[in-house]
Amino acid sequence: MTDHREVLYTIDTKGKRKWVYAAWVKGKYGVQRAFAAYFLILFYLSLPWITINGKQAVLLQIAERKFTFFGTTFWATDTLLLALVLAFLGICLFFFTAVIGRVWCGWACPETVFLEFVFRPIERLIEGGPAQRLRLDQSPWTKEKILKKGLKHLFCAAMAWILASTALAYFYGRDPLFEMMVSPPWENWQPFLMTLALMGVMAFQFGWFREQFCTILCPYARFQSVLMDHHSLGVGYDPVRGEPRGKASKKDVGDCVDCGLCVRVCPTGIDIRNGSQLECIHCAACIDACDSVMEKLGRPKGLIRYDTEARLLSGEKNLKSVSVRTAIYGSILLAISIAIGYTLMTRNPSEVKITRGASDVPFTELPDGRISNHVHVRISNRGEESRLYSIKSDRDDLQLIFPAMPYPVPEDSLLTVPLFIQFSRGILDGGRAPIVLTVSDDAGYHEDIKMVLLGPG
Ligand code: SF4
Ligand code: SF4
Repeated sequence: MTDHREVLYTIDTKGKRKWVYAAWVKGKYGVQRAFAAYFLILFYLSLPWITINGKQAVLLQIAERKFTFFGTTFWATDTLLLALVLAFLGICLFFFTAVIGRVWCGWACPETVFLEFVFRPIERLIEGGPAQRLRLDQSPWTKEKILKKGLKHLFCAAMAWILASTALAYFYGRDPLFEMMVSPPWENWQPFLMTLALMGVMAFQFGWFREQFCTILCPYARFQSVLMDHHSLGVGYDPVRGEPRGKASKKDVGDCVDCGLCVRVCPTGIDIRNGSQLECIHCAACIDACDSVMEKLGRPKGLIRYDTEARLLSGEKNLKSVSVRTAIYGSILLAISIAIGYTLMTRNPSEVKITRGASDVPFTELPDGRISNHVHVRISNRGEESRLYSIKSDRDDLQLIFPAMPYPVPEDSLLTVPLFIQFSRGILDGGRAPIVLTVSDDAGYHEDIKMVLLGPG
């Protein structure tokens, strides 16, 4: 007999795909997941239409390297904050997977949410339950089949268009996107093609590839075995109570009546009774299915349940569910949260950097014998009002040539302005002269920036 870990449930012995016709089951977790999923869908669809502090709630302007989240704009220059947020998200993945398993996969991943709560319901509504869908797929192309398949794809394409257009609103902004939508496609080729490409990806993913993404492609599933341990909470079958399987009328058998309903409702087509598997997305559909069977038989629910592997395999109910590892992840998470909070509270709306371009000549000799250095002053004004910026030097014998002094920078903008520093060669020592430039704005920002002037010698 082949071990279940050596085969993929959705591929037959000849390597051909076995299509999963998962049944829909009513139950406590199904209702909770539906609430969570429709809340997330509504959140995703409505965010671009919400305005906070006069800005679109979430706007990701990649070309401008400007990212707005809930009324606050962040720039690519917020490197410390960006690093902390990325570290926070990474550790969150470790922490939550170690504590509550793949809750992301079953409850919040866009793949699951859109497939199970948008595209599959449309399919069920038009083509019917698993047996009817199987019959329809195996039947020849009759008028009825063409009509049903056509209608399903039409509705799915309309949903894909709404989801894809919303995705673009996060990147282009809702108002520019709306203007693009009411003008002909040839005036806005890029967003038009991007919408089509996103719709194509959705058609492929939700119409055909489906659970294959979770079972053979998603890297998170591959990490599952190292992120989870025996004390992680997950969906599992209780072999102590369930085995040996047998009909309800038989004596000396466990509670599992081998009805197979838990397998028929599984969106990835697996049998949870074989133990923890990377194909399991912890959607809890098999819990609802088995609970409904136990209820009919008058037996306690929970033969399949959310529990830790340690408790399920030992039958011991009082085992701890928090390991040392999760305590360490939790402490790191707390430390990073404090660091993010501190960085946000002390974040100055003004930031100025002085750089030399890689292609710039280090210095120029002027006709009057003096030397000139060309540098770039990058000014970020992340504040809500326009500000005036000034630059001074710690030496009187330098001439600073700046387009305007003070220099106005509008709110929410990042400008790079050229600065020429002219000086006599007498101040150089070995071709170098360290100086300090003091940058300030009219709102109290003040910073000393050290740099070295370059010249001959
Ligand atoms: S649904 Fe429950 S009783 Fe039926 S096969 Fe699955 S585990 Fe056994
Ligand atoms: S085994 Fe159960 S929890 Fe896991 S994917 Fe299948 S139905 Fe969902």
